Amino acid sequence: MKHPLRAAAPRPSACPGLLRIVAARDGGICRIKLPGGRLTARQARAIAVAAEACAGGVLEATNRANLQIRGVRAGCEDALIERLLAAGLGAASAGGDDVRNLMLSPAAGHDPHTLLDTRPLAAALLARLEREPRWHGLSPKFAVQLDGGEALAMLDHPHDLWLSALPGEDGPRYAFGLAGCPPQRAGDDPALASIPAAQAGELVFALLALFLDRAGAEQTRMRHLLQSLPAPAVLDALRERQPALALRRDAALLAWRRAPAEPQRRFGVQAQREAGLCQVGAQTALGRLDARQLQALAALSERLGTPRLHLTPWQGVLLPDVPAARGAEAQRALAELGLLVDPAAPLARLIACSGSPGCARALADTKADARRLAALLPPAADAAVIHLSGCPRRCAAAHGAAFTLLATAPARYQLLAGGHGPVLAEHLNIEQAAARLAAHPSSPESP
Ligand code: SF4
Repeated sequence: MKHPLRAAAPRPSACPGLLRIVAARDGGICRIKLPGGRLTARQARAIAVAAEACAGGVLEATNRANLQIRGVRAGCEDALIERLLAAGLGAASAGGDDVRNLMLSPAAGHDPHTLLDTRPLAAALLARLEREPRWHGLSPKFAVQLDGGEALAMLDHPHDLWLSALPGEDGPRYAFGLAGCPPQRAGDDPALASIPAAQAGELVFALLALFLDRAGAEQTRMRHLLQSLPAPAVLDALRERQPALALRRDAALLAWRRAPAEPQRRFGVQAQREAGLCQVGAQTALGRLDARQLQALAALSERLGTPRLHLTPWQGVLLPDVPAARGAEAQRALAELGLLVDPAAPLARLIACSGSPGCARALADTKADARRLAALLPPAADAAVIHLSGCPRRCAAAHGAAFTLLATAPARYQLLAGGHGPVLAEHLNIEQAAARLAAHPSSPESP
C-alpha cells in the first residue's frame, strides 16, 4: 500500500525532492531534506541501504546540508521513496517537502559561542511550514537562515530571509534582513531591523505572508520582490500589518556587524559547550560519499558519540557529543573512512559540480579534473576555494569561490577571479591551471 504522503503527485519543478526524483545523465536524483542538517544513525543506514537497493550507492552531501541519492534506476523510484518515508525522512505533508529550507549552524545548540539556541525555533518553524498549505506556494529554492551566533556558521550563502542572534541589554534579539547575508564587514548592507527573540517565529511567518501576498507570479525569490518593493517599504508594510511586533531599527542596529565566523572549525576536534564533550568534523571529497561510508558514519556515531549525524553546508559531516578523551580517535576514524580532516589538504579547497558523467550541460568531467588538480596543488592552510564548473550555471557554489575554473571543452578551463571574473586566463589544461593557482594560493590577484 502506498504511503499516505504519496496520494498526490508532487508539483512540477526542476528541483529534486524526496517525492520528486529528477532525471540526470547518470540516473535519477532524490534529494532528502534534513531538518537542520540532522539525521539519526538509523536513518543514515536506511538511506545507505536504499541507495544500494534502488540506485548505484552514490550519495551527495549538498551545500544546504542535505543528502541526495544519485543514479536512481528507472523503475525503482517508488520503492526508493517508500523506503525513505518508512525511515521517517519525509515531511509532515506531501506539499511540505519543498519548503524545508531552513539553514542552521551544524553546531547549533553545542557551539560554545552560541548566543541563542536556534533549535527550538527551527523545529517550530519547520512544523508550521510543513503542515500549513499556505506556505507550500513558496519556491522550492526559497530559503531561511537562523543564525544563533555560533563560531561554526556559513554566513556567505545568501538567504531570502536571514535572522541572526544579537546580544541585547533588554534580552536576546534577532537582527534580520532580506535576500542576503548577516553583515560581517564594514561595507556590508546593514540589518533591516531587529526583533525580540520571543517574536522571531511571528516575524518569519509575517514576512512569508507579506511575500506571498505581494510577489507577482514571476517573483519567486525575495530578491525579485525587492526590485518592485524595496526593503524599507517591506518594513513599513510589516509595521502596518503587524503593529504588535517590537521592531527596532536604530543607529546601533545599523552599525551592528556579526562576529566573524570560523568555518575552519568544520574540521577536526572542537569543544562543545557541554563540558567534557566535543564534536568531530570532516568534509567529503567533492561532495561525494558512498553507501558504505554512510553506514560506517552511522556506526561511528553510535560507538563514539550519540546516534546522530550533523551534515554541514561545506558538504561535510560532524559527529556530535563525542567524549573529549575520544576526539582524536574519532578524527582518525573519519580519515580512515576517506573523509578530509585536514583543512590544508588540496581537495578540501575544491568544489566541483557533477560534471559530464552526471549532467548533459557539462563541457568537462569536473570532478575527475578536480582530483587531478588536487594532486598537483601543494597543501596550504587558509588557501582560497577553487570552484570547477561544467557550465556557466555554476550550480555547485552557492557562495562565491575565490577562483572559478569554468569548463570550455573537455579538460579545458577559463580561470576567473571570484565567481564571475575578471578573466585571468583562457584555455588552460589542468597542469597549467595548477601552476597558476599554486603560485597564488590565497588571493585572486593575477595568478
Ligand atoms: S554547473 Fe552546469 S554542468 Fe555543472 S551540474 Fe550545473 S548545470 Fe550541470
